[in-house]
Amino acid sequence: MSTLVMKFGGTSVATLDRIRRAAKRVGREVANGHDVIVIVSAMSGKTNELVRWVEETSPLFDAREYDAVVSSGENITAGLMALTLQEMAVPARSWQGLQVPLLTTSGHGAARIEEIPTANIRAKFDEGMRVAVVAGFQGVSPEGRITTLGRGGSDTSAVAFAAAFGAERCDIYTDVDGVYTTDPRIEAKARKLDKIAYEEMLELASLGAKVLQTRSVELAMRYKVRLRVLSSFEEFSENAGTLVCGEEEIMEQNVVAGITYERAEAKMTLISVADRPGIAAAIFGPLSEAGVNVDMIVQNISEEGRTDMTFSCPVEQVARAERAMEAAKESGDINYHDILADTEVAKISVVGIGMRSHAGVAAKMFKVLSDEGVNIKVITTSEIKISVLIDRKYMELAVQALHDAFELEKVA
Ligand code: ADP
Ligand code: ASP
Ligand code: MG
Repeated sequence: MSTLVMKFGGTSVATLDRIRRAAKRVGREVANGHDVIVIVSAMSGKTNELVRWVEETSPLFDAREYDAVVSSGENITAGLMALTLQEMAVPARSWQGLQVPLLTTSGHGAARIEEIPTANIRAKFDEGMRVAVVAGFQGVSPEGRITTLGRGGSDTSAVAFAAAFGAERCDIYTDVDGVYTTDPRIEAKARKLDKIAYEEMLELASLGAKVLQTRSVELAMRYKVRLRVLSSFEEFSENAGTLVCGEEEIMEQNVVAGITYERAEAKMTLISVADRPGIAAAIFGPLSEAGVNVDMIVQNISEEGRTDMTFSCPVEQVARAERAMEAAKESGDINYHDILADTEVAKISVVGIGMRSHAGVAAKMFKVLSDEGVNIKVITTSEIKISVLIDRKYMELAVQALHDAFELEKVA
């Protein structure tokens, strides 16, 4: 019997009624002859509430207890989904990460999946169970503690289960009917893509399109999982949604596939650091140890042996970055005159595998932003993407102007 993985995000299980609606879709796949693994998120808003409770109780919380609390939202939906299916006479039971067991590293709050032994669940399928409802986002560390996979991590649970069970497909049900050329909440003209290549989706996800967690796309690419993103609110049809697949399956292709934004970025500059071998390591080593996710890095031309070093990181990590730099200065590993934080910036990125063979995308992006009077503060590029930091107040304007200029509402 073929196995299908179906993942339902927070809005798709936000109420008992929505859980029933999701369960009906699962029931239809069971009737089509599939064994189904359902991965559920917490009801929408639940995880945020749990995170707030943890932070209020203990500002410098123990990450193991954070995971114990924050993982619990998914347990509720897993049980409710199993009960709903049973009410529909579909043989189902729930599984917490620990029961599977979904084995992870001990990186609490952002653990990585190491292995999913399939024996326990397979044995139940062999006994006649048709649906395994698994709490997403959670696993268990080598020390036997509960872990979570980072925000949005149920997507990654879903893809990992699809890979482990050799599933025919992994369907991600959410509140939009697929992957769009940009976030449809920001640009009404955003167009749904029928297909998108793994590599492009990976860039879009890591640059801010939160429709799929980055790690889930990485896993899908590595294990060639056919990943589909579709709406749990629309009528079902066979070709609904967006298929994330190999590049070779895509016939028509715009040079630019999509535009993403990261709203809460910060630009930090260390003024006047010694320009000597090892200086980058002396700065970015401690930042990484402090858990700061540095993205863009620019080093200025040096004058009289001193230079400015600029980098970007999420706004919420600014205090941590400052502390790490002050500690490095105190210990004598680095020396700088001042540290500046611009916490009012956003990152905009243009992504497309077509950029490999088409020149001029960067020039066009810069011209569009300049025509809108938007100043670019930092630029980085890779083979298939260009990212810029700009003032946050221009973020929506920039996304819309770029979407228009690259004519993303049309198919090439
Ligand atoms: P879920 O709770 O189902 O996991 P998420 O909120 O994590 O859903 O992800 C879905 C949201 O991602 C959409 O509501 C949409 O606003 C946002 N999003 C951002 N960029 C894109 C994009 N390029 N295509 C589709 N959705 C996007
Ligand atoms: N509930 C978790 C979160 O909100 C995991 C997920 O929904 O994917 O981040
Ligand atoms: Mg999500």
